[in-house]
Amino acid sequence: MELKKTRKRLQANKRLREIITDFYADGHRAKAEGRPVVWIPPMNGLIELFYAMDIHPVFPENWAPLCAAIGTNRQNFTSAAERGFSGDLCGYFRNNVGYALAGIEEANQPLGGLPKPDFLISFGAGCIPTQKTFQVLCDHFRVPVIRADLPQVAMEEIKEHHIRYGVVQTERIVRFLEEKTGHRLDMNRLRQAVVYTDEACRLWDEIMALRATVPAPFSAAEIGIMFVMVTRHGTKIAVDFLREVLAEVKEKVARGEGVIPHERLRLFWDNIPLWHNMAVFNYFEKWDAVVVAETYSAAWSLRLDPERPMETLVYKSLVSYPLVSCVSLEKRLELIVKAVREYKIDGAILHSNRSCKPISMGQMDIGRVLAEKLGCPSVMFDGDHMDGDRFSFAQFQTRIDAFMEMLLERKNL
Ligand code: SF4
Repeated sequence: MELKKTRKRLQANKRLREIITDFYADGHRAKAEGRPVVWIPPMNGLIELFYAMDIHPVFPENWAPLCAAIGTNRQNFTSAAERGFSGDLCGYFRNNVGYALAGIEEANQPLGGLPKPDFLISFGAGCIPTQKTFQVLCDHFRVPVIRADLPQVAMEEIKEHHIRYGVVQTERIVRFLEEKTGHRLDMNRLRQAVVYTDEACRLWDEIMALRATVPAPFSAAEIGIMFVMVTRHGTKIAVDFLREVLAEVKEKVARGEGVIPHERLRLFWDNIPLWHNMAVFNYFEKWDAVVVAETYSAAWSLRLDPERPMETLVYKSLVSYPLVSCVSLEKRLELIVKAVREYKIDGAILHSNRSCKPISMGQMDIGRVLAEKLGCPSVMFDGDHMDGDRFSFAQFQTRIDAFMEMLLERKNL
């Protein structure tokens, strides 16, 4: 079955496409102008540091969804497999390693491809595939590398001594960058970058809170707006864009305009979206259902302190996988239960993601707790956020249709 593109996208999407194009173009401009390019792990809390030092950050993990959306992921998977990397590994890993080791040399890559790194920053935190990605990149590119350490600690266990340790590590990175680039870190610029990030996080919270409105002003199909939270923290670009999104969403709420005309069911999506098939979110429209919250909704719900820029960025780094590696099951349950209550969720869709074990672990408990504590039913389906060959739409359809019918019956609709 061919899934249609939803007709109900936010206008701000046009601006988002420009921001995405410009981010990659800026990487190539940086290369051409001799500005350093650094590849860093995903959702890294130190983006502000790079922008404050005129160093262009590249996030291989953020590149992967783009490859999946455009379809170059298949070739990257093949390149990774040809080099002996198992098909059972995370799709981000297979895509990024395949791209870095082969695809980067090929013409006609989406958005001109990635500029090669002048340095690599590898943090000893996050999931194992992320750390292993950087190990492969370090072996391959043979550019200066700094492997900074960061404790892997559950977000609710973060103490002052973890922050102090992180600051020492961050100062090591600063010394490394200053030495390699000759650019000095200006603390005033860093503070300004933190101010931008703090404002971006505040706007993000405000936008996400508006999704609790019935009918919901936008669906999970818009989750691409998180691009600015990953790549443009520390810049005015993120702040201006999120202001634009907020204004548009506020207007929709004021008009009582939902993403679908007759909203009957509100859903929560657990785990990463299917980047290779985002149209799946539109399938729920058949049932007048809309995904109003997802795992990522709470991912940037934090405040930063510009008066303590280093400490606050270390804190951000420590929680940079807030719903993945740095969270206990208790905390994850707490966040999901809170979302189900706040967003008035009727049912939860649990994407059992073959690629991502860290997020898929605990989903049986999530389903049980939602049912026992909130009387909220859930359904699980097998998929893969990067690999379309590991997702059967027919199976998804069978499960979802039965689940939606049950939810409608429960509400006597
Ligand atoms: S968190 Fe999951 S999706 Fe992200 S790199 Fe790790 S295993 Fe892959």
